[in-house]
Amino acid sequence: MFADYHVHTPLCRHAEGEPAEYVAAARAAGLDEIGFSDHCPMDGPEPFDDWRMLRAELPRYVDMIVAAREAATPFPVRLGLECDFIAGHEKWIEQLAVAAPWDYLIGSVHYLAPGWDVDNPRWIGRFTAGPDATEDIWARYWAAFTAMAASGLFDFLAHPDLPKKFGHRPAGDLQRFYEPAIAAMARTSTGFEISTAGLRKPAGELYPADEFLRHAHEAGLEITINSDAHAPAEIGHAFDQAAAAARAAGFTRTLRFEGRQRRRISLA
Ligand SMILES: [Zn+2]
Ligand SMILES: [Zn+2]
Repeated sequence: MFADYHVHTPLCRHAEGEPAEYVAAARAAGLDEIGFSDHCPMDGPEPFDDWRMLRAELPRYVDMIVAAREAATPFPVRLGLECDFIAGHEKWIEQLAVAAPWDYLIGSVHYLAPGWDVDNPRWIGRFTAGPDATEDIWARYWAAFTAMAASGLFDFLAHPDLPKKFGHRPAGDLQRFYEPAIAAMARTSTGFEISTAGLRKPAGELYPADEFLRHAHEAGLEITINSDAHAPAEIGHAFDQAAAAARAAGFTRTLRFEGRQRRRISLA
């Protein structure tokens, strides 16, 4: 009943385990499909940072996943990519989109600006650097996330409320951040993931929060359920909990992708 579509490989320099080990973990966890989605290479001078493949490594990534797919037949292994959205770099995403026969593209916001990755523990002090620091970070993040949703470049979007990773949330009703993003996703028919990675971080809850899920369901958005695995043991982690949260918010189906076409699977 479940697929795990947010899965990394050692090419990103901070994940462990070969694709075949992730596939074996998916089968052992009772999933019926897996998709890889390593961090994309970036345009401009390299290295862009220390946690992604280089542009020259993209063909190796594709070959690696295609080989894993052939070895796993008939178990479905999808080819995806987790793309960092940075406003002004949309052309690069368009180039990536035609660089390989992707089954899906995931859009992510990690960067509030080049060199300022919001989920990097290196910058954790910035959340408490002033009375409005967390509010300001969230505002910048959600503006970028909303622009990503409005771009329509992606099949679904990753870990929507990522800036809560270290446990920092602004005061008050967070719907003010969610609403514009959800509206933009609805306009562009872009899906999003419920990510169990937040359960493994100080945030201690799923990405996104239940309130986001409820509003997203009301807006007619569609979901995937993923682990953001950086090790084979994380494949399928806490999917029952994510599915329960999805059902509680009203979702009855999850998305599957092949050749960037959607199918829907019942969550019943
Ligand atoms: Zn990663
Ligand atoms: Zn990821």
